[in-house]
Amino acid sequence: MKPEKALIFELSKPGRTAYSLPECDVPEADPAEAIPGSLLRTAPAALPELSEVDVVRHYTELSRRNFGVDNGFYPLGSCTMKYNPKLNEDAARLPGFARIHPYQPEASVQGALELLYTLQQDLAALTGMDAVTLQPAAGAHGEWTGLMLIRAYHESRGERRTKVLVPDSSHGTNPASATAAGFETLTIPSDAGGMVDLAALQAAVGPDTAALMLTNPSTLGLFERNIAEIAGIVHEAGGLLYYDGANSNAIMGITRPGDMGFDVVHLNLHKTMSTPHGGGGPGAGPVGVKEKLIPFLPKPVVGRREEDGAYFWDWHRPDSIGRVKSYYGNFGILVRAYAYIRSYGPEGLKRVSECAVLNANYMRKRLEPYFYVPYPGVCKHEFVLSGKNLKQYGVRTLDVAKRLLDFGYHPPTIYFPLNVEECIMIEPTETESKEALDGFIDTMIQIVEEAARDPELVKNAPYETVVKRLDETAAARKPVLNCSCG
Ligand SMILES: *Cc1c(COP(=O)(O)O)cnc(C)c1O
Repeated sequence: MKPEKALIFELSKPGRTAYSLPECDVPEADPAEAIPGSLLRTAPAALPELSEVDVVRHYTELSRRNFGVDNGFYPLGSCTMKYNPKLNEDAARLPGFARIHPYQPEASVQGALELLYTLQQDLAALTGMDAVTLQPAAGAHGEWTGLMLIRAYHESRGERRTKVLVPDSSHGTNPASATAAGFETLTIPSDAGGMVDLAALQAAVGPDTAALMLTNPSTLGLFERNIAEIAGIVHEAGGLLYYDGANSNAIMGITRPGDMGFDVVHLNLHKTMSTPHGGGGPGAGPVGVKEKLIPFLPKPVVGRREEDGAYFWDWHRPDSIGRVKSYYGNFGILVRAYAYIRSYGPEGLKRVSECAVLNANYMRKRLEPYFYVPYPGVCKHEFVLSGKNLKQYGVRTLDVAKRLLDFGYHPPTIYFPLNVEECIMIEPTETESKEALDGFIDTMIQIVEEAARDPELVKNAPYETVVKRLDETAAARKPVLNCSCG
């Protein structure tokens, strides 16, 4: 068991400092001349007093308590926590990219503009769309942008369409984005096989349908087999099809949302295209659209002049929904995505998807005998199990997740999607070796055996982490946000 470490305030010793600077040899400015008196402190801030090495050790120790894909397997379903090649980090840090300013004259940043322009074209080719905006800063932001485009499209045709249809297996951001964009959402149930219930869809569409938002493969890791029919039903009613492409790991280079009939798609570059993510960003959620939605794209758009081939910011977009992000999105993330696409090439990207699907199916096949399997059959890049069979021992999916921590694994996604009881959602990703997959599988099997033999062991886990089982209700209702020594 790891010892509890003291808080930095508890380590403080009066008078100890982390630096030594020579005496000031210029006249000291009076802070009251620069800062209004009402904003000045009356007493120094109560900061801890420590030597430099103590500070370094304290923060290094804290950083070691973090878990990331660089120190272990992280099979968080729907989140694609995969290893990101360091090559792309290097590319994003090249001074020519990292040290430029968004307000520099166009002529001095032609390389950066070319990169954005080319990335737009690459993402359009990969998704089967006609144009792409790189502005949105996250997946949910891309969804919101896409829905605003859909709204602008319907309004331009003089149609008032107020409803967005969302299957019950969808990511929570889908109904949230639709609501934020001013739509009403209608939930479409899944059938017993995890597919969109076509009869329910047929009954829900109508003249007020603005769009259907769909993830394919769905959050259950299943490829929607009736996609052509679904597209037909929605288009027939005058609605548009929105593709949540946050998890494109299963389909790159194999199939394209544009070819499935989708009109709008967003991608999560911070899942699929080499940007590490977590903790709220930064991210990038580019949106691709079919021809009829191009006039509404956020401005500015990166254009290329016919005459001299120079790249420029195209602000002349009278029907644009306007800017959705300062400057032009999170540039460093776009550089990583560009480097990722270019270093893999078309064949490499296809191989990424093939390996993601192979890894998921290998793991699914080995784990299925030990869990309840809500949707049997071949999956795409992720799959769901149910811990329902462990309830007979009084053990829940949450307990399995906590026990995994003792073995140094980040648990998979649990209790999502909501339509699977005691859900466990696993996404191994393409970047793991067979040995890494087997290690995790063997641990999961061991935990199931523990649950049957010694349920209390599993129910009281974790034992090896700094923080043990938390009272999650109290953590939410009565959070301790400050230490008492302030
Ligand atoms: C992660 C995810 C999102 C949201 O992306 P953010 O960048 O976190 O806003 C949307 N849909 C699906 C299917 C996702 O997996």
